[in-house]
Amino acid sequence: NNLAALAILGVALIVMQTDISTRHSLYADMRAALAQGQFRLHYQPQVDAVGNIFGAEALLRWQHPVRGMIPPGVFIAAAEETGLIQPIGTWVLKEACAQLVKWSKDPNMAHLSISVNVSASQLRQPDFVQEVIEIVMRSGATPAQLKLELTESMLAKDVDTTIQKMKALRAFGISWSLDDFGTGYSSLNYLKHLPFEQLKIDQSFVRDLLTNESDKAIVETLVVLSKNLNMMLIAEGVETTEQLNYLLNKGCMKYQGYLFSRPLSIEAFEAFMPVFHES
Ligand code: C2E
Ligand code: CA
Ligand code: CA
Ligand code: CA
Repeated sequence: NNLAALAILGVALIVMQTDISTRHSLYADMRAALAQGQFRLHYQPQVDAVGNIFGAEALLRWQHPVRGMIPPGVFIAAAEETGLIQPIGTWVLKEACAQLVKWSKDPNMAHLSISVNVSASQLRQPDFVQEVIEIVMRSGATPAQLKLELTESMLAKDVDTTIQKMKALRAFGISWSLDDFGTGYSSLNYLKHLPFEQLKIDQSFVRDLLTNESDKAIVETLVVLSKNLNMMLIAEGVETTEQLNYLLNKGCMKYQGYLFSRPLSIEAFEAFMPVFHES
């Protein structure tokens, strides 16, 4: 019995150790990646009802020398647990601002806004507001072209501090977007107190929109809600023209999804933009 218990303990220790060393190497790898410039931003077009691209969401990619392109689902959670999301998030903001400045000199691109995802631990930093303002000012980007995306779950804690930070950055000119809207429960109550300019319908409601009655009801409710709250509404994960037409008919006029484009490297994004010919 004791032997069996010892054997189980031994296995458990080995499992724990593997877990810790995998985590540790992921942490070390992410630190090295940041230092060596292995992170990239890809940009997914955001499209209005007549097909014009008005903005892009910046989505983080890790170009690993051995493992190739790693999507954020694999490393964002670990980056949050280890605190590395803070320097990574700073890099993302600087990179997005630098991109806005580059685009401001190109008549095809100058109108675009960029949406940046902000993680909970970034937002919780006491100097978050100051840091964002400094990054934007140093870059020379126009604050009105920067959007910051928060998820509903991030609004559950420290509501008053969050509202203060949001208002401070709003006063500076940055706008706020509520990501994955509809997947949390808590924010509806105080949504009207939060200075969001934009709500994003989560892709889970768009996926089965044509066949699922509750998804239809939710989308219709979000259209009414966003109108009443005077917020822009954008649907994520639009993959088919049927979904697009449904959303359009219900009054959701902005979209993001594979129907229009996957997230693109900067070169591919610029090539994807239609060129205006002055003649
Ligand atoms: P998100 O902010 O909800 O981003 C949308 C995700 O949906 C992206 O996945 C995008 O590639 C994907 N997507 C877009 N259109 C479609 C579609 O039509 N169909 C389907 N099935 N998927 C679509 P991605 O790039 O893998 O990012 C996953 C998540 O990682 C993001 O979800 C966001 O929460 C997080 N993330 C990405 N970049 C950053 C970042 O710079 N900072 C932070 N903190 N989180 C980030
Ligand atoms: Ca997002
Ligand atoms: Ca989302
Ligand atoms: Ca999401």
